[in-house]
Amino acid sequence: MYYLAEQDREQLMMRATECLDEGSSIKDKIKTAQHLYDLWSDQLKREPNIHQLIGKLERCLENSRAAMLELGIVETCKHCDEEEGGSCCGAGLENKFDTFLLLMNLLLDVSLPERHHRHDSCYLLTDKGCRLKVRLVLCVDFLCPKILNAMSKGDLIRLQKVSGDELTTAFILYDAIKKFLRNKKRAAVIWYGKDAKQTKGDSF
Ligand code: SF4
Ligand code: SF4
Repeated sequence: MYYLAEQDREQLMMRATECLDEGSSIKDKIKTAQHLYDLWSDQLKREPNIHQLIGKLERCLENSRAAMLELGIVETCKHCDEEEGGSCCGAGLENKFDTFLLLMNLLLDVSLPERHHRHDSCYLLTDKGCRLKVRLVLCVDFLCPKILNAMSKGDLIRLQKVSGDELTTAFILYDAIKKFLRNKKRAAVIWYGKDAKQTKGDSF
């Protein structure tokens, strides 16, 4: 478990939840994330702090997944989606993602969807469930009344601990990746779209 001072945590969360490319479509964001991945993934994965954080996040995600399976949440959500008219992963939620969060998923070996599988739902929801490993705070934190009512207080505390670790680690990694890329001139050109032609010719 991380223990950050409240002020540090707030600052980190604020930086990590800026959505700099809010106006772009999810397909454009995925394309940009893929370009950044092609350019920088080797260096990002070799950078010691980022390398260590990716490993830590993988372990946090495993712990969260194990807790959700053991507490029956995965099964309940599957039933909700398949038998009760659809999950709560509504259409448009994909617009809350920014390119860095998508890039993080690529760094964790996620293959991002090339098409919208279920038009009445989030773009990132496929027939096998959510395609992502690193999700929004909203996706990780949300527990509907059906799930909440079925959980004991002890179970809820356990889940909140593993989710808190997952989110904090993801925030720190997100921040580290942003700083790394902001220090790279070519990435800045791509990110802020200052010269598309130069970017294309230069890098992709
Ligand atoms: S969180 Fe609740 S509403 Fe959403 S998919 Fe799971 S069971 Fe259904
Ligand atoms: S959990 Fe996945 S599919 Fe559901 S809203 Fe979040 S990103 Fe979309």
